[in-house]
This record gives sequence, C-alpha cells and structure tokens, in this order.
Amino acid sequence: MAKSKSNNQEEKKQQKAAAPVKNPTTGTGDSAQKAKISNGATSEKQDTKEVSLNQLDLRFRDEIAGHPGGENIRRCFACGTCAAGCPVTEVDSEYNCRRIIRQILFGMREEVLSSPLIWMCLVCYRCYVRCPQKVNFTDIMRVLRYLAVKEKRFSPETFEWINDLDRFSQVMRHDMVKGFFDKKKVSLEELQSRIEKVIKEAMTQ
Ligand code: SF4
Ligand code: SF4
Repeated sequence: MAKSKSNNQEEKKQQKAAAPVKNPTTGTGDSAQKAKISNGATSEKQDTKEVSLNQLDLRFRDEIAGHPGGENIRRCFACGTCAAGCPVTEVDSEYNCRRIIRQILFGMREEVLSSPLIWMCLVCYRCYVRCPQKVNFTDIMRVLRYLAVKEKRFSPETFEWINDLDRFSQVMRHDMVKGFFDKKKVSLEELQSRIEKVIKEAMTQ
C-alpha cells in the first residue's frame, strides 16, 4: 500500500534528525558543510551569507562574555533596538550592532575581528541605554578592539589614531557650536588645515 504524504514527511524529518552532526568548533567536520547565516539586518533587504561551519568558533561568545562588559551578550534576542538608534548606522547602513552581535553569537570570530567596522563605533552608549536586555554593546566593541590589536590584526597605532580622531571630532564640534552661539565666524582655513592634518596622519598609518 502507498505511504501517505504525512508519513513520508515524518520519515524525512526523522532521517534528518538522525544524520551525524559535525562539530564546527573543533574543525573535525566536513569542510564542505555550509550554512546560510542571516546578517541580522533590520531592513527588508535582509540578505544571507554562506559560511563553512568549520570556520565558526562557538567559544567566541563565551570569550566575549568573559570580559568586563560582555557578560550579557547571550541575552540578545535580536530585536534591533540598538541598531535603530545608532548614529553610525544612520550614515552607514553597513554598520549594524545587531548584526555584529549575531556574528559573535554564531562564532564568526575571524570575520568580526578582521573587520574595519569595529572601529566605526562612536562609543556613545546609546545602544546600551536602549537595549531591553542590558547588552552592553559599547563595551563589547572595546573588547573586540582590544582582541583585534592583541592578535595583531590591527596595529596599536590604529587604536591611538582612532582615539585621537574621536578627540579631534569632539574639539571640532565644540568649536563650531561655540562659534555659532558666540556669533563668531569659525575660520574655514583653520578647519581645513586641521582636517588635512588628520587625513595626512591617517594615510601614514
Ligand atoms: S537592543 Fe539589545 S537585545 Fe535588541 S538586538 Fe540590540 S543588543 Fe540585542
Ligand atoms: S555605542 Fe557605538 S554601536 Fe552603540 S549606538 Fe553608539 S555608535 Fe552605535
């Protein structure tokens, strides 16, 4: 007698569940084994990236959780509130805190620590203040930078230059706001020479 459709589906489910699962963290799995991982983007154009499971490091989340500030990372339920209020995401849709947290939880250590995106954060703590799960993404970003420099993926000079740039941006903003309220003209020449200096320093890193 022919099997019913629901019986066939049930059999397929059981076969799938019984299939051997290779360990992606130990690298003992099939090198061709791949998974599609969502980038966690908040837009409708959510795309996926195919990654080899044996390139994932599932201990990465524990590593981050072990650093001060990273304790709550496993609590993230991907609501996207952090990304919605991030001033960097406003100007660069490639930068998305929710996506970076997803990548950490999935074990995409190599990809996260090698990415220039970890240097984009303004360290403003807006994401942390808004997060319903108290995930401290700002301090997680500090941890990522620390690990990236420690592992020589980026130089200590990069770290210093980003700190100088943050200070410089703040001084520029302060001078411009002060000039606006004091009704004083900000010297465009001076601004230009300061910006050129920063760009020159960046090019020599
Ligand atoms: S706001 Fe918090 S819980 Fe929501 S995605 Fe961001 S880190 Fe995760
Ligand atoms: S701390 Fe960084 S990631 Fe968080 S809102 Fe500010 S710029 Fe965005």
